[in-house]
Amino acid sequence: MSTTYIAMIVAILMGVGLLVGIGALSLLSGALNFLFVKPKIEILKNKSESSFAFTFKWDQDAEPVSFDHVRVRLFNPFGSPTEVDITREFDSSNVDFVREIDLGDQFKKILTATNLEKASVEIEVLASKDSVTHTQSFKGDVFLQKLAAATETVEDVASKFFVAKVKPRFDIPERSFISPPLPKTAKQLKMATNPMFVGEFAGAVGGGAAVGPAVVNFNIAKVWIEPGCIVCDACEAIFPEVFEVTDSTCIIRPGAPLNDGLKMQEAAEACPVEVIKFTKAN
Ligand code: SF4
Repeated sequence: MSTTYIAMIVAILMGVGLLVGIGALSLLSGALNFLFVKPKIEILKNKSESSFAFTFKWDQDAEPVSFDHVRVRLFNPFGSPTEVDITREFDSSNVDFVREIDLGDQFKKILTATNLEKASVEIEVLASKDSVTHTQSFKGDVFLQKLAAATETVEDVASKFFVAKVKPRFDIPERSFISPPLPKTAKQLKMATNPMFVGEFAGAVGGGAAVGPAVVNFNIAKVWIEPGCIVCDACEAIFPEVFEVTDSTCIIRPGAPLNDGLKMQEAAEACPVEVIKFTKAN
């Protein structure tokens, strides 16, 4: 056999070996991801018979969503009751979180159902705005055992895992922000106009065309958000120096500029639920 043939066979074997290696590495990485990064609901110790305490871990880097509902369902075809379906809303979270939710008497019915060992209990965590759900199923008796064996409360887990991850926020009064008093002046602020068109407008006035009065800007004394914000982001898009939309509401940034009343008015008018309120400075 010539050396050319030997070299070809070695090259083919190396190519095949490389492909097999890449395939194996990709399978291994998928398996590691499935085992260690998959979302997880853990059952915690509840404080009352009707409450359900749990923690939920989710890979926000892979899919940033905000979870806000939990659904607990019993499927019990051989026992009684045959089915229980409970859904509750909670304050949303876009990081790993713990919650204890009161599920009422319906939850007690799940815990005391007959033939639970042949039933299944399904826990579903939903992000209603993002249409994302994660479901975890347990055999009925396993669910009961996990509940009975849980030793950590929501406070234990929150203090251990989540305190450091909470997004830092400005600490401000809940409803209002009051500006320091403005210096007294007789001057009025004027709205900035595009210098490109100043000449054209001036010409229009000179030529007798009807032009409305110049819109004059004004200062703000106080701006605040009434309860009822639906976190639509409209105000922040218009005036990000003043408004910060969080997961559950909108807040006024400390030190927000209060010298652009027209822009503030535009943001307030854009608010679909009209919860942005402000007063003009004298
Ligand atoms: S525009 Fe209104 S509803 Fe929308 S985020 Fe701002 S305050 Fe909330």
